[in-house]
Parts: sequence; C-alpha cells; structure tokens
Amino acid sequence: MLAHGHMIPMLDMAKLFSSRGLKTTIIATPAFAASVKKARESGHDIGLTIVEFPPKGSSLPDNMVSFDQMTTPDLLPKFIEALSLLQEPVEKLLQELNPNCLLSDMFMPWTADSAAKFGIPRLIFGGTNCFSQCCSEQMHIHKPYKNISSDSEPFVVPDLPDKLTFTRTQIAPFLLVEGNGDKFAKLRQEMRESEKRSYGVVFNSFYEVESAYADHYKKVLGRRAWHIGPLFLCNKAGSQEKAQRGKESDINEHECLAWLDSKRPNSVVYVCFGSMASFTPAQLHETAIGLEASGQDFIWVVRKGKNGGENEDWMPQGYEDRIKGKGLIIRGWAPQVMILDHPATEAFVTHCGWNSTLEGICAGVPMVTWPVFAEQFYNEKLVTEVLRIGVSVGQKKWQMAASEGVPREAVTKAVERIMVGEEASEMRRRAKYYKEMARKAVEEGGSSYNSLSALIDELSSYRPPAKQIRISW
Ligand code: UDP
Repeated sequence: MLAHGHMIPMLDMAKLFSSRGLKTTIIATPAFAASVKKARESGHDIGLTIVEFPPKGSSLPDNMVSFDQMTTPDLLPKFIEALSLLQEPVEKLLQELNPNCLLSDMFMPWTADSAAKFGIPRLIFGGTNCFSQCCSEQMHIHKPYKNISSDSEPFVVPDLPDKLTFTRTQIAPFLLVEGNGDKFAKLRQEMRESEKRSYGVVFNSFYEVESAYADHYKKVLGRRAWHIGPLFLCNKAGSQEKAQRGKESDINEHECLAWLDSKRPNSVVYVCFGSMASFTPAQLHETAIGLEASGQDFIWVVRKGKNGGENEDWMPQGYEDRIKGKGLIIRGWAPQVMILDHPATEAFVTHCGWNSTLEGICAGVPMVTWPVFAEQFYNEKLVTEVLRIGVSVGQKKWQMAASEGVPREAVTKAVERIMVGEEASEMRRRAKYYKEMARKAVEEGGSSYNSLSALIDELSSYRPPAKQIRISW
C-alpha cells in the first residue's frame, strides 16, 4: 500500500523475515523504494523489485504517487482503480520471483487471486490490530448504528469482549450507506471477500495487548491470524535507522536530541498526528493555544503542505517567541520513535494510527487520543477503555478531509490529565507494564516470536488446494 503507515511496518516485517532465514523480496513503487534501498545498504538482506505507479492505463495524474495525496474526492476512485491495475505487473513479477508465499496489503484484494493462480498462500497485512478488526466486523454484522434516532446517540457494538460505545459520527460515512455505489465501499466489500480466499492475517501487534480480541477473532469470527509484532522491536535498529523511519526527518536528529536532553526526565508531551491526517487552520490555532495553556513542555509536529501547514496564518501572534524553550514545533517529518523513546518524553498526543499507538505503547507513555479517520476511533477505545493508558481529547467526528472541532480548553484539559495527578500516575504504571510485555513478546520464546515460528512451520508444508494450478505467461 502506498502509504507510510503501511510501508514502514512492511519493511520492518521484511527485516524480521530475513532475520529468521526467509528469503524476502519487497515489491515497491518508486516513491516508497528509498527506505527499502537504505535498509539494504545498511546490511538487511532484502530483495527489492519496483513496479511503476501510477500504472499504465490509470487515469491518475503522474505526480500522484502516495495515498496521502488523495485530497479531493475525485482522486480517491482513481487511486483505487490504479491499485487494481497493478495486478498484471505484480503477476509478471510473481512469475519471475517464484515465491512460496505472497504477503500483501489488505487494500489489494486481487492479490488473493494472483496467489491462487500461482498455487501459493496469500497472507494479508492491514497495518492495523486485531481489536479494530473485531470492532469493524461486529459493526458490519450487527449494524447497531441503524437503531438509533440521532448521530450523537451512543450505541453498543454487540458480541465484543467489552461493552464499547460509539456514535454514528465516529464511523466512516461510506460504511453507513449500503449499496451506494461508492468506490471505497465497494473496495471494502472486495477486501472482505478476498479475506475468505486468503490463508490468514498477520498483525503488527502482540497477543498480550489484545488477548481477548485475538481469541475473539479466531474463535468467534473464525479467522486465522498470527500476532508477530511489535515489528519495529524485532530488529535491533541503530540510532540512524530509528531516527529515519519512512522518510528523512525535517529536523536534525542531534538538534532534536539536544532539545530533549535539556529537559527533565518525564516532562515533555509529544504531539503528532501521523503521515496523513490534516487539520483546518482554525484547529491548528486552537491546538497551539491549548498546548501553551497546559503549561507543559511539548514537541509538536505540524505537517507541511496540507491545509494550513503551508502558510502559518493559523499561528497565534507572537506564539513562537512566547513558547521559546518550552515548545518545539517540527514542520514536516519528525524522528518519532527516537522522540518517544527519550527519557524526557512523558506523554503522547496521537491520532491513534495503529503504528503510532503501538510505538506509544512500546515506549510506555500514556496517550491523549485524538482520532481523525480510518479505524482510529476504534483504536482510541483500546487505549482509553481496554488498556486504560490514555484519555480522550473528545473528538467525536470521523473526518477524512481537514479535521476540526476540538476547542483549546479540551486540549489543555486532556494534556493536564495525562501529565499531572493520581490518574496520570496510574496510567503511567499501566503503560510501563505493556511496554514490558511488548518487549517480552518479541524475545526468543515470547508470544510473537513463537507465533511467527508456528506460521513458518505451517507454511513450509503448505500444499495448494487441488483446483489451484500454476499458470505460465
Ligand atoms: N511518523 C514519523 N514521523 C512523523 C510522522 C509519522 O516517523 O512525523 C511515522 C510514525 O512513527 C508511524 C507512521 O509514521 O510509524 C505513521 O503511521 P500511523 O499508523 O501512526 O498513522 P498514519 O500515518 O497511517 O495515519
């Protein structure tokens, strides 16, 4: 999938597979090949093959190479179509590479057919966790949002291990309208159907962080799944690799470390909303004032070039002077894992993308949850209600376009709650527990380590169903 939130863990996974003795090749597009090349240069034994994107026949403009560029409604269907046009070039590569297994992103449902043509199993990787998949599936089965009178009326998703409450505003609008011909809704349906034709799902997650849901997924929903993460903990990354995940940082890593080193331990709030979410200038303005009023030291990552990031009109008058020494604004890409791992970092304000959430869990920092879109509203519930290592900022509206609606007071209050007082100490204690669990899971003999061993063993003796035959070009 052409998005950093998917490619970063894919590369981590390739490194893990290769370290476990599996010959591994990544198929990437030119825009996402640089980090794979870098990993190869630093000694990881990973193959790389490149497919052009947009592919031949696509109606997507040539400069549209990444999912986060799909900012207008007309581009999304073209992007989905372009993904499906990758089928032919990918199948040609499969013919050449002759692999024993194809692991592909959930957004490429046609890869289930490609794998079947070659008589090999297809594993799905979705970049997310098992918890959100369970929520999404039970939501799809029961459609509890149908029996309510208003968008803001809470409802419970039935049959889940916990009693989790949502409102209609927290669900993607295209999922609420059945048979609406929406391309994305159609893709979701194809993804669901392709899961039945696939061997199973691998999760960048670990059993201990969502055990009830891992069991639910297998025993109640009848799916096959392997928890093999946190993937980024599986590889002993050097500081350079840690600082430059996905992209080169827009701040010098030494400058960033020096800033953090100048702070007391456990005193800094890190604020970042991933690689795709965007905010209106008004929301950036409210966030700025809310953070300042919390009185806490902070690092805040403001994305460049999208909705307000490109000019600085949103910034309160005299803001940067006022926060000098207390707040560091990084414009663009931050060395997130490096910042989260620093002893000065105490809490994380996150949009609840799964990679960020997992990185927060592995760093043992409590979180302020501020979901924007995708499955982030589910992940928020995992953090705040199941693991109880975070507090919500109160955003209740799923917004794919520039997000807004969180007042300054809510930002201040959530940051204060996560940093100060008895409730904060309790969350911190729990967060440290999950950090420990995450590390244990990937060690030899840990749950994720064993799960991958079991998967490799199983796949070694894979025989295709009788009707699947290998084709040749
Ligand atoms: N990331 C980063 N620096 C940034 C923004 C994001 O290193 O300035 C990384 C982050 O560590 C995570 C990924 O990009 O690994 C974002 O994935 P996530 O699932 O959290 O969110 P998405 O970008 O898919 O919404």
